[in-house]
Amino acid sequence: MKLRNAIFSFAAALLLVVGSYVPGSAAEKAAPYKDSIQTEKIQFNNPDFIRGMDVSSVVSLENAGVTFRNEKGEGQDIFKILADSGVNYIRVRVWHNPYDSSSNGYGGGNNDLETAKIIGRRAAENGMKLLVDFHYSDFWADPAKQKAPKAWENLTVAQKQTALYSYTLNSLREIKSAGADIGMVQIGNETTSGIAGVYDFADVHKLFSSGSKAVRDFDSGVLVAVHFTNPEKTETMKWYSDYLDQNNVDYDVFATSYYPCWHGSLENLTDVFNYVADKYGKYTMVAETSYANTLEDTDGHSNTVSYWNNNTGENMLWEFSEQGQADEVRAVMNAVNSVNNSKGLGVFYWEGAWITVGDITGKSGAAWTSQYNSNKALWEQYGCGWASSYSGEYDGDAASYYGGSAVDNQAFFSASGRALRSLHVFRNVCAGSVSADVLTGDVNGDGKVNISDVTQLQRIASDMFEPSPERLLASDVNRDGVVSIQDATEIQRWLAEYEVEGVGKMY
Ligand code: CA
Repeated sequence: MKLRNAIFSFAAALLLVVGSYVPGSAAEKAAPYKDSIQTEKIQFNNPDFIRGMDVSSVVSLENAGVTFRNEKGEGQDIFKILADSGVNYIRVRVWHNPYDSSSNGYGGGNNDLETAKIIGRRAAENGMKLLVDFHYSDFWADPAKQKAPKAWENLTVAQKQTALYSYTLNSLREIKSAGADIGMVQIGNETTSGIAGVYDFADVHKLFSSGSKAVRDFDSGVLVAVHFTNPEKTETMKWYSDYLDQNNVDYDVFATSYYPCWHGSLENLTDVFNYVADKYGKYTMVAETSYANTLEDTDGHSNTVSYWNNNTGENMLWEFSEQGQADEVRAVMNAVNSVNNSKGLGVFYWEGAWITVGDITGKSGAAWTSQYNSNKALWEQYGCGWASSYSGEYDGDAASYYGGSAVDNQAFFSASGRALRSLHVFRNVCAGSVSADVLTGDVNGDGKVNISDVTQLQRIASDMFEPSPERLLASDVNRDGVVSIQDATEIQRWLAEYEVEGVGKMY
């Protein structure tokens, strides 16, 4: 249902701008629509190109009282907002046991198995697949940290292989039973230095293989992904793919993070991926990327990209605005889509909804401190900051630096939870932004609305004809997100009931 998908985007975007459209008013009928975020179409080599997003923190944010709203300002399930905006895949991290001995959450979303089940189910309810990102740790696993779960601390490598296999298989079964549509599984997160407390690469591949086997035994149709980072270290990245091959690790997708402030040029990224695609025939993917739409902070916890911090550099090519954020996403998707032999599988945006639990904007002095303390209490209680104080026992860094969101300025939602216009990019990459004036009901584009539009609309609705983006927008007369026979009926009703000057006979 490609057509149906395409229509969603334009209708969703249009809704925001035209709002309540009243047939019979000439001014509104002729109201031009132009998307405020302009994105050039990408001709995707892979028709199912992943336009994904990691929103692992949302459940903890909602628990802390955050509500998400669509672009019109209406409260709505964030998964519906994302799906309506063109996101087609959700990524969720899973930690083994992110709690201290008194059941206090470590934070960072407290992303245990139960949270993954909730996120997976809600994604599936809105037509989105799930990428399960196992960290094989009790808290953040990244290039600097690959600490084993507390429960595995004293296991030998062989015992860890068994534990990792069982844990992976059982977790996937539970997530699926909860209603998720699992499409891909990551065996570790940014496993550049090791995995699950194993740092000797004579052994690391054994754990990759155990995880992979669990995924194959779970469902042979699910993709197995490995995830490294620092693609700017070109030769090292190539080495990982050689290493996996030499050790017969069975996987489908070679993924990396790509943060432009750290990770080199997009041309280099494509080169690395081409090496893996050409030599080993694997899919390639960006498992994480993000970009700031502003350099301002809204929660009192300093951001990864902010004034004087990661905001310059030869690969920070876009402005810090909603348009710039959309441009970065498009550029990364384009770089992945450029990989040889259609081996560019997709891109996931990292934590596109990790907004503040209380806006500090405009506050100073005692008011700022009061708001900050209120935020801090929520981060501690609900685990909705990057780390809570309770994580210090497990993660030494977190003991000193725990706090809120370091990426609230990279979200696709405002501090008050309202969807930003930059979110349009996930839809607009498929067909391009609407840049032309659109006359609602002018299905055939002749500048008039009359019975011939009804005829054309019936052809579109029965999939006999695929119109241009502008004509799609014009065709979704009742703004319900699909072009259907109901739109034809609506035009006929107008034809019968209205007569308005300037736009043809029908009104
Ligand atoms: Ca922040």
